[in-house]
Parts: sequence; structure tokens; C-alpha cells
Amino acid sequence: MPLPTAELHLHIEGTLEPELAFALAERNGVTLPYADTAALREAYRFSDLQSFLDLYYALMTVLRTPEDFTALADAYLERAAAQGVRHAEIFFDPQAHTSRGVPIGTVVEGLSASLDRAEERYGISTRLILCFLRDESAESALATLEAAKPYLDRITGVGLDSAEVGHPPAKFRAVYEEAARLGLRRVAHAGEEGPASYVREALDVLGVERIDHGLRCMEDPELVERLVRERIPLTLCPLSNVRLRVIDTLADHPLRAMLDAGLRVTVNSDDPAYFGGYVGDNYDGVRDALGLGEEQLRTLARHSFEAAFLDDDEPRRARYLAEVEAHTF
Ligand SMILES: [Zn+2]
Repeated sequence: MPLPTAELHLHIEGTLEPELAFALAERNGVTLPYADTAALREAYRFSDLQSFLDLYYALMTVLRTPEDFTALADAYLERAAAQGVRHAEIFFDPQAHTSRGVPIGTVVEGLSASLDRAEERYGISTRLILCFLRDESAESALATLEAAKPYLDRITGVGLDSAEVGHPPAKFRAVYEEAARLGLRRVAHAGEEGPASYVREALDVLGVERIDHGLRCMEDPELVERLVRERIPLTLCPLSNVRLRVIDTLADHPLRAMLDAGLRVTVNSDDPAYFGGYVGDNYDGVRDALGLGEEQLRTLARHSFEAAFLDDDEPRRARYLAEVEAHTF
């Protein structure tokens, strides 16, 4: 039995495996510039952030209909369940779809068709988090939130992702204020490639409750102290950090030092189809590379459920936490 966990940092578009990409391409009459799944899998061995983003956006063109998004989410949930995920808070990037003529309703309705039966089929409870692309304009983010208003009963919160450097959190002050007014939960990527100051800015200016990545906070002891004091969860993605060259090897990952500092770190998979593994693979990777023991692994899993947006279902959170305590390694 895998360790039960909540996955809090997962981009659904980043779960598109080569086999499904080809199947959807054929269904939708899209020609992919790869001979077969083996050639495409080879392309998944990109060398840096830009080559990843190029492939990521190119492959998204196979996602056209609500059924495509349903199939994408179903494939993720099945893999996630096999790796111990009991609760998933799933990011999606509306602008990556609306910019190529796929309406936000197609995306939300397609994903919801899968999430609505996730508990029954896969034993996973879910939340949906709408992310703004930070390399797009603040106006585009506001227009995206406006377009999402008919679907807010499906959406728990907002996030901020894509290329970080040069796009500080403060650029999105207005859209986060509006999200808060609408009662949405708030998270943001910060301190992955960008500096520790972006983490502070995301807290102070955007009012976020969790930081996605955030590992560069370790360069700023005062910030670490504050994150510990305010019990701010950080959603780490170890395999992603290696693949995108944020760190050289898993053995260099600050996760263990972050745990020792008292930070509320969690383990997640980010874009698992592209980064070499799902959440269980990330747990296994840091366990082996950093020599984590059972109590540290249990602490990471406990953090994930404590940090989950389950405030509307505390009995469920308590059940999941009990599963963590009862887990035998
Ligand atoms: Zn991410």
C-alpha cells in the first residue's frame, strides 16, 4: 500500500502522456510532428524550462472537446490513485486553451465530468484551481476570471504559474483582490526560479495561503522564520526541480533542510508526464536521495492533508489524517 497523500500541486495539462496525446490527435484530426509515441517520449527529455514549455504548449493543441479534458483527468486520477493520492487539488490553465479558441466552459465542464465521479471510481476527492499564466498580462488574467464567473461553483481557488522571472506577484494584485472578493482561495507559484522576495510579495500583496514551490525561501532566514511562524504550506515538486535544472540532483534538494527548519513542506508531482514521475515517484525519490525515515515521510503526508482546502469537510480531513497515522511502511 502506498503512503496516503494529498496532491496540492498538479497541472492537469502536465499529465498528458504520449499515448493519450496520439489518441486525442487522431480523434481530432491534429497532426503531431512526431512519428510515434517513442519519438514523442524522446522529445519529453527536454533540457530546460523553455524547451519544456514549447513542447507543453504544442501538445495542448490535441485538447479540443469536453471529452478530451475528461479523458485527460481520468488518466491522471487512475495513475494518482495507484500512487496513494486520496485528495487532489488540480490546477488548470484556461488561457492556454482560450487563446487557441477552446472556451473556458469546455475545459471546466470536461474536467468536472471526470472529477464528479473521481471519488466513486478512484477513491479520490478533488478540488479545481484556476491558474493565471504570469507571462500574460494582468488584463488577460482579469478577463479570464470574468469568463470563469459562470463556473465558480466548480472552482475552489486561483493560482499563478508559467515563467516566473520578470513577472513578480504584484503584477496580479487586482485579479487576486477580485478573487478574494469572490470568496476564492489563493495560492501562487513563487521562489522556484524567481527570488525569495517573490515569496514575500505573494504573501503580502496577493494574500496567498500556500506557496507553490518556494524552495528559494531558504536563501532568506527571516522569511523562513515567518513561513514557520505563520504555518504557510509549501508545495514542493522534487523531480520537477531536477528536470527544470532548479537543482542539479535530488541529493541537492533542500526538502530535508526545510523539514528540519520546521517548514510545512509537501511532496507533489507538478507536470508528471514531463518530469519523470507521479507523486509516489517523488516520495520515493526524496526518500532514497535524502535518506528520509518513516516519521519524516509520515510528516510530509500529514502536512499535505493539513494544507488541503478541506475546511468545508473537516470529517474527511480527519479520516485522511487517520489513514496516514495507520499507514505501515
Ligand atoms: Zn507548477
